[in-house]
Amino acid sequence: MTSAREGEISQSLALIRREIPKHVTLIVVTKTFPASDVQILYGLGERNFGENRDSEGSEKSALLPDDAQWHFQGAIQSNKLRSIVSWSDYIHSLDEIRHAEKISSLAEEMNKKQSCFIQVNLDADRIHENRSGIKTSELPKFAHDLAQFPGINLVGVMGVGPLNSDPRPAFAELQSASQVLQKVVPGASFISGGMSGDFQIAMEYGATHIRIGSSILGSR
Ligand SMILES: *Cc1c(COP(=O)(O)O)cnc(C)c1O
Repeated sequence: MTSAREGEISQSLALIRREIPKHVTLIVVTKTFPASDVQILYGLGERNFGENRDSEGSEKSALLPDDAQWHFQGAIQSNKLRSIVSWSDYIHSLDEIRHAEKISSLAEEMNKKQSCFIQVNLDADRIHENRSGIKTSELPKFAHDLAQFPGINLVGVMGVGPLNSDPRPAFAELQSASQVLQKVVPGASFISGGMSGDFQIAMEYGATHIRIGSSILGSR
């Protein structure tokens, strides 16, 4: 039997899937939505879920089968890292060496390699809401410094586009940041960019992973 909520999610998911080519990974951002929604999405075939808060990610990931992939994309708090490393498959928001150091030692302790994206700040004039992320100009040194941490598997760059201006320059910058990173770490070719409002544009600029919440699950 299909619940009303399942029908709703299934419909909006179908619309999004139609726009995403096979080589792009859809991460459904389930933050603030209940675990029952994640279970519906799992039943519909989705396997990648994004969370911004440790507590939510920890609870929901425990309820889903092991083949679900969990993406942590929120601001990192050092005291939450032990938990985040325990449940997340990918961290998208790495932008501080001290966090990398801690992630690496926790991952080694847990016998895993923690896959991480480096968050890049796409806010060219730095006067807007999004202050997270490192500058593209700092990327080579940051990536080089990260290479010393054996518990980290660097997979690519992540960025959040501007909310109130043209996202194209931002995603062009993310794409060039990816080129810069790959000169230092040749395998780190993933680009995590794009949300409900701008994912088509992010894909034009090479996004390999897009993070969509409200277009699938509704407004928060
Ligand atoms: C909330 C969030 C998303 C999803 O945003 P929607 O507009 O709901 O698609 C993607 N990425 C990050 C970093 C977020 O915080």
